[in-house]
This record gives sequence, C-alpha cells and structure tokens, in this order.
Amino acid sequence: MSVEQVPVQRADFDQVMVPNYAPAAFIPVRGQGSRVWDQSGRELVDFSGGIAVNVLGHAHPALVGALTEQANKLWHVSNVFTNEPALRLAKKLVDATFADRVFFCNSGAEANEAAFKLARRVAHDRFGTEKYEIIAALNSFHGRTLFTVSVGGQPKYSDGFGPKISGITHVPYNDLAALKAAISDKTCAVVLEPIQGEGGVLPAEREYLQGARELCDAHNALLIFDEVQSGMGRSGHLFAYQHYGVTPDILSSAKSIGGGFPMAAMLTTEALAQHLSVGVHGTTYGGNPLACAVGEAVIDVVNTPEVLKGVTAKHALFKARLEKIGQQYGVFSQVRGMGLLIGCVLTDAWKGKAKDFFNAAEHEGVMILQAGPDVVRFAPSLVIEEADINEGLERFERAVAKLTAA
Ligand SMILES: *Cc1c(COP(=O)(O)O)cnc(C)c1O
Repeated sequence: MSVEQVPVQRADFDQVMVPNYAPAAFIPVRGQGSRVWDQSGRELVDFSGGIAVNVLGHAHPALVGALTEQANKLWHVSNVFTNEPALRLAKKLVDATFADRVFFCNSGAEANEAAFKLARRVAHDRFGTEKYEIIAALNSFHGRTLFTVSVGGQPKYSDGFGPKISGITHVPYNDLAALKAAISDKTCAVVLEPIQGEGGVLPAEREYLQGARELCDAHNALLIFDEVQSGMGRSGHLFAYQHYGVTPDILSSAKSIGGGFPMAAMLTTEALAQHLSVGVHGTTYGGNPLACAVGEAVIDVVNTPEVLKGVTAKHALFKARLEKIGQQYGVFSQVRGMGLLIGCVLTDAWKGKAKDFFNAAEHEGVMILQAGPDVVRFAPSLVIEEADINEGLERFERAVAKLTAA
C-alpha cells in the first residue's frame, strides 16, 4: 500500500513553509552519484553535496544497502535500550580517533551543545562555579540553538533573540596573540573550527592550533574542535585535526558523518566523558539504529586510503581549474581550503556577489554553494568521478563567462 502523493511545486513553499529559507527555483527529485535531476527531468552536476553532507554522493550502494537492511530489522528503541549499530559505529570512531567515548545526537548544533555543556560541567566539577567562560572565533559558526549561536561569532545569527548565553568571548581567527590576551583561568574551553566553513572556507594555521592547545593546557581549559564541516574525510584526513597534528579534548562531528541521514556525534576522552554521568545529558533519537547503520557504512567507505588519497587528488583538479577561471575572468583573488572543501574568494569587483555565481551556476546545470557573500564554495562528494568534476567545471566556467559578460 502506498501513501497518496499530491502534486507539489516550488510555489507551495511560500504558502506552507516557515519562510526562514529561500530555496532555489527548482525541486530536486532524484540523485545518483554526483548528478541530480529536478521535477522537469533537468540534470545537474552536484558540487554542493547538500552542504558538505553527501560525502558519498547520492544513492551510494553501500549506504542504500545499510539503510535498507536496517530498515527491515529495527528502526528505533530509544536510549532506554542500546543497539548494535550504535555500538559498532562508536567502536569504529574510537578506533579511528583520539577519542575513547562517543555521544550520538542528530545535528551539528546538538553535537556542539553537548560539547559546550560538557566543557562547562567539567570546569564546574573540577574548579567550581567561577570557571565557565568560553572563547570562540569571530566569524565562526557552530549551529543555530541559542547556546551555539551565542558561541558562534556572527551577530546576524545571535542578535534579536533576547539575552544570549553569557560568558562567551570572541577573538579574531588565526590570531594567537588575541587568544593569549583573552584566555584566563576563568576560561573553561576554547572552541575552534580547524577550517572555518560558513565563515568563508578559511583553514587555520598550524601554529595557531598548536598555540591554542598550549594556552588551553596552561589555563586548565579544554580545546574543542568543531569538525562538523571539516570532518569525516573532507580535508583528505578522516578529521582535520589529524592533518594539523593537534589533538582536541572534545570534537564535534555531523554533516558528512551520516552521508545524508541526520546524524551527529561528540567525541571525547575517558576522563572527560565521566562528567556526563547517567541523566546529565541526552536526546531521544541519539544513536538511532537507522542513522548509525548508515554512519557505519560511511566510515567504512571513507576511512580508506583510496578514498582519502582521492580527496587530495580531486582537490588538485578543482584548484587548478578554479584558479585558471579566476584569473581568466578576474573573479577570484584566492582559491583556498583543504581537500574537497574549497572556497574561491571573490575579487573586490565581485565582492558581495557570491549569490550571483550560485544563480548563474544553477542556470548552467551545476549546484554550488556560497560561504557568506564573498566566497564561492565547493563541497562535493568525496568519491565524485573525474568526468563529473570536468563536466561540472565546464558548466561553471560557462556560468562565469556569462556572468562577467553581462
Ligand atoms: C553546519 C555546521 C554546524 C551546524 O550543524 P547543523 O547540523 O546545521 O546543526 C555547526 N558547526 C559547523 C562548523 C558547521 O559547518
């Protein structure tokens, strides 16, 4: 028996959805690998990856297989009971990282919420009520709950909702002197994205992360890495901290970890994990069997030398061609990022116009992203075929040619 489906169009969005998004004019209905088809049958190359989520593209057989198999077995039991996929995925994450313990949840914001609550709890338990300050970077993004917008360094997301969470300081990113000046014995945690994603695809400097680690140790503060966007293979390492050789105390992962199934995790050490004892924190769906079965398939495929080396090779293809386009049309001052998280910084003449590139690309049949108004962002599948990269970049170049000729 199938559920009756009434026909819907993009115009319905403006009637029935809360208007907090402004989606593109077409509705995607099907995806395969790095191609997507819309309602009219038009085919597009997908360089957006669902905002750095579809780490293995669309309808990857390993993910479809894992989800289908689990769908026929057990969907949900809540955390009153544990389940096999959650335990297997947690073991794999522990084996592959610095972490000893895993907390599962459903979104990046929730993983960060857990990370920030854990940091405050640890400081409270070990040092008392005065140590609760969190230092974060300007222009950072950590999610949209009240705690995470308060920690995120972007007033456009945190203003206008009444009092914010207090005890949060923002410092310029990649500025060790500013961090040193801000940190004190009242600091319970420093939180950084190893690559600022939403803030414009800006990688940290190695010395900055190393210096942050040392400052945290000197002040009994925890170092939290938000790897919601940079993690699960996107940088060419499983997590970007492994590229830098700087180990955090707490790491948040989401987006790519579920390959398109809503899923997130907070990773931490044995000693810190003990502060989240029974009842201190939780979420109904966290570690849901369907999500974890998919997560297991994701890490099995992604955490292999073939896929991770492929990310680095594909980065080079994107970078070379994008730099060429940037020079030829005078649109990009810099192509930056790591692995398959790439940002093209617009030249002064094109500043503020990233949305125009998004629209022009869509018209030529390629889905891209922006990271703020001044950066064009690419976050494709880690297993995107070379033919799709070439075809997508052809289309993107046509879009840039038309945009700059207009
Ligand atoms: C997307 C993102 C988040 C928020 O994740 P949600 O799943 O949207 O809650 C947090 N941190 C970073 C670095 C992100 O890129």
